[in-house]
Amino acid sequence: MKKRELEIILESLRGFESPKIKLEQYVTPPSLAAFIIVNARLNDDLNTVFDLGCGTGILAIAASLLGAYSVGFDVDPEALKIARKNAAEMNADADFVCTDVKDVKIKKRGTVIMNPPFGIQRRHADRPFLQKAFEISNVIYTIHSAGSSKFVEKMAEECGFRVTHIWKFSIPLRKTYSFHEKAFKYIPVEVFRIEKYESCNAGR
Ligand code: SAH
Repeated sequence: MKKRELEIILESLRGFESPKIKLEQYVTPPSLAAFIIVNARLNDDLNTVFDLGCGTGILAIAASLLGAYSVGFDVDPEALKIARKNAAEMNADADFVCTDVKDVKIKKRGTVIMNPPFGIQRRHADRPFLQKAFEISNVIYTIHSAGSSKFVEKMAEECGFRVTHIWKFSIPLRKTYSFHEKAFKYIPVEVFRIEKYESCNAGR
């Protein structure tokens, strides 16, 4: 499946019914989701995929449509209800679990693909997501606000991982508070591919 075809399919998925500001809920734009998943497939990273803070499931479902088995985790049962419906409609091989990210448990490491809260409401709200990702994966694709690279690289290094790619995008974010300005503003984001390096598997 080509990126454009995947993007068109993802456009038909349902999003959040009433997004919760505190949880920084917003759907990854389909074009960005398709970009990430197509690249993950090119790198042969789509086996078992864990989507931390999966929301309505776009990343988990996209990964499944390109051949992965995915498990999405989110603390919000209402979002997961929509994610399950989306997955069923797409015949996607995906399961969804309601839990706080810090309590996620898995049997065997896989690939984490996630769009965690950026920390706009709470600084470094993305930290527990990265921490968990380092615990359960060999490879990570993760979206952060622009300017996060020092923070992400430092955490990666401390956990025996290294950043292999950084892609820069601008994505439309719906304004939550202001009804007087434009409904959307574009914010710059960075997508990271991070991998565990073999030498670290030894003495750890
Ligand atoms: N990954 C989805 C949603 C991104 S929004 C997408 O790409 O479209 C961030 C998601 O993180 C929300 O669904 C929110 O409910 C979830 N979230 C926020 N804090 C969380 C926590 N502590 N544990 C688990 N999920 C959390």
